[in-house]
Amino acid sequence: MSKYYVTIGLEMHCEGSLTNTKAFSSGKNEYTEEPNCNVSPVDMAFPGILPVVNKKCVEQAIMLSTILHARIPEYMYFERKNYYYPDLPKGYQITQNPPEECVGNGGYIDIERADGSTFRVDIDNLHLEEDAAQLTHLYDTSTINYNRAGVPLFELVTTPCLHSADDAITYLEYIRAIYQYCGISEADSKKGQIRCDVNVSISDDPNTLGTKVEIKNVNSFSSVRDAINYEIERQSDLKDQGRYDEVEQETRRWDESTMSTVHMRSKVDAIDYKYFVEPNIPRIKLDPNWIKEIQVNIPELPYERKEKYMNEFGLSAYDAGIIIKEKPTADYFEKCVELGMDPKTAANWLCTQILGYLYQEDISINEFYLTPELMNQITTAIKDGVISSKQAKEVFAKSLEEKEEPNTIMDKYSIKQMDNDSELLDIVIKVLDNSPEQIKQYKGGLTNLFNYFVGQVMKETKGQANPVKLKELLDQELAKR
Ligand code: MN
Repeated sequence: MSKYYVTIGLEMHCEGSLTNTKAFSSGKNEYTEEPNCNVSPVDMAFPGILPVVNKKCVEQAIMLSTILHARIPEYMYFERKNYYYPDLPKGYQITQNPPEECVGNGGYIDIERADGSTFRVDIDNLHLEEDAAQLTHLYDTSTINYNRAGVPLFELVTTPCLHSADDAITYLEYIRAIYQYCGISEADSKKGQIRCDVNVSISDDPNTLGTKVEIKNVNSFSSVRDAINYEIERQSDLKDQGRYDEVEQETRRWDESTMSTVHMRSKVDAIDYKYFVEPNIPRIKLDPNWIKEIQVNIPELPYERKEKYMNEFGLSAYDAGIIIKEKPTADYFEKCVELGMDPKTAANWLCTQILGYLYQEDISINEFYLTPELMNQITTAIKDGVISSKQAKEVFAKSLEEKEEPNTIMDKYSIKQMDNDSELLDIVIKVLDNSPEQIKQYKGGLTNLFNYFVGQVMKETKGQANPVKLKELLDQELAKR
């Protein structure tokens, strides 16, 4: 915690990964390993090309603007942001830029913290633009992949209204979820689909902003958190030492290897992009009826699902909050419930075993071997008393290890509770016959020894005894002695 008043603003770029074609061309919008196969002449800036706005992208942007309570303009137009770089064949990016109207202007969104409290994030603007190609710098050469050139990009800019790294991350996670729930993007950091610029300042006085330092192109939420905290500490240290004038209005970058921010350029070196209206795209009238049609078709949003999980399925706010965080997880949960799994049981498995496993293996739930159908084999076996919950964990682990269905694993290793009463009774009697000393002590008042008998029977049955039945039989047999 800084003793100073911290102010944070965020710019989040998210690739629209779920359209068929790119933002202004017919190039295929598809993530693929093979470089330079999804490229149209427009993406390569061949002479005479003309961009055409992808209607689907505008529809998605209007949906987002609505969710963000942003003002949607009557007419939409695009601008050229001019700069030269090898990943930008045209020499400019088609984008939108205030004070000209963007697809979303102003607005706000209320965000819930894990503890249930809320905070409001004020939106400056949402604009629609195109991504640049992808440069990869190798030892003595660089490669360029134009698949990404022209991919739709949504840039969401907040006002400087956040005050902690935790809130910043909570906000980013919620916006990521919105992209997923609205079917706009997988919003997958691992595929480089989300990139953030962060600005941080500190001040003694909540009504005055300090010097703003910007950190560019931070690629994961954990790096955003680290970069913010590093910058707060760096600026606070300088201020503590009476050297606040050394905090410069500058652009820095996050260096993962040293876990620090590094100077990139000063404000005096700021690039002049010479924005002007893109002459090849006429201004587009956004038909109010079309906007309404988009607005009534907004899919169920994460917080709506959270409410539903709490009210209809009785989940805790905490579990529901974890499950809705990413749409694939919420979809998995709903599929489990649809299959007849008890919602609380499904939530327990998800929030502990399953998400723990995914984290450990660093894979997504879509790559998880145990589909809801296969998980249902495990929970059904518990419900029917075939296996204990302890055995279920063993089945879960073995199933993942061997990539075999839980039912197969249970058969293969004969993992089951002993449901044959007389067989279990025989073992109980045998254990008691072998423990005359312990029975004497038990009868003499050492009632804790009951657990000793349970342990002995479990050992004999290799853990397959049904604990409830075992307790019943032990009570009954001990009474006879
Ligand atoms: Mn941008």
